[in-house]
Amino acid sequence: MPYAIVNGVLFKEDSARVSVFERGYLYGDGVFDTMRSYEGRIFRFQDHFERLSKNICALGIEWEMGAEELRRLILRLLKKNRLSDACIRVSVSRGKAGFGPRPLKGVDTCYSIVVRHILPLPPNFYRNGVEIMTSSVRRFSASSLDGKIKSMNYLNSILARERVRARKIFETVLLSEDGLVVEGTFTNIFIVKDNKVITPPSFLGALEGITRKVVLEIADIMGIEIELVPFTPYELYTADECFLTSTGIEVMPVKMVDGRIIGKGKPGDITETIKREFVRRRAD
Ligand code: PMP
Repeated sequence: MPYAIVNGVLFKEDSARVSVFERGYLYGDGVFDTMRSYEGRIFRFQDHFERLSKNICALGIEWEMGAEELRRLILRLLKKNRLSDACIRVSVSRGKAGFGPRPLKGVDTCYSIVVRHILPLPPNFYRNGVEIMTSSVRRFSASSLDGKIKSMNYLNSILARERVRARKIFETVLLSEDGLVVEGTFTNIFIVKDNKVITPPSFLGALEGITRKVVLEIADIMGIEIELVPFTPYELYTADECFLTSTGIEVMPVKMVDGRIIGKGKPGDITETIKREFVRRRAD
């Protein structure tokens, strides 16, 4: 039986509980972060902790948790579950409340940590690239809910995925209300054009993914030109290369978008170089 942590206490997963009055459950009033460990070490923990802390600050939630304390709790949980290569989810909810969405002062913030062994995706996905689609569901704008906040409300992404559930599509890409490419339901998107690596700026509503950050660092170190600029589906369809990033999938080449073949229909050179360098850095 796997173990989980709720408010600092270790429980067997099936007895780990939060209240039905928990606001994360009632209103999606909370944030989470998904991290990953390789050989027992949490990849880019500090970056994940900073994102989580900023998100908590953005919602005005009070959570007195230091980076080292959280790292220790996660490592303890990994050990207890005998996991070294794992997906780690830390959820922080505003706390218990009565009826009505009004945020209350003085509620006790609630948090949980769960971990799972991570099952690698089939190697041919990485070898050949995957197929993706643009969605008719739009990404909400930063003026309604800033995509930088990894909030407990993932309905926008879930609804976009639902639409393609029956199809053999790896990921769905959400556009802004203006029809600009924003991000996938659980991934950031990149294109390569004229040897430049381009990804949408986060003000369009994209999450500032930690993998995206690492990819931008890699491109910078390798002297590859980077642009954080909005682009349309036209630019996506006519890109030389395209790839997706996230903690779970790392760097995933895309071979087809909306039935259009991207570049040569297989992972491009820049994608492969970045992917290789990413795998090398995991071990740092
Ligand atoms: N965008 C969304 C909407 C996501 O859910 C994720 C996964 N956390 C990402 C992008 C990628 O972020 P990261 O590289 O930090 O996993």
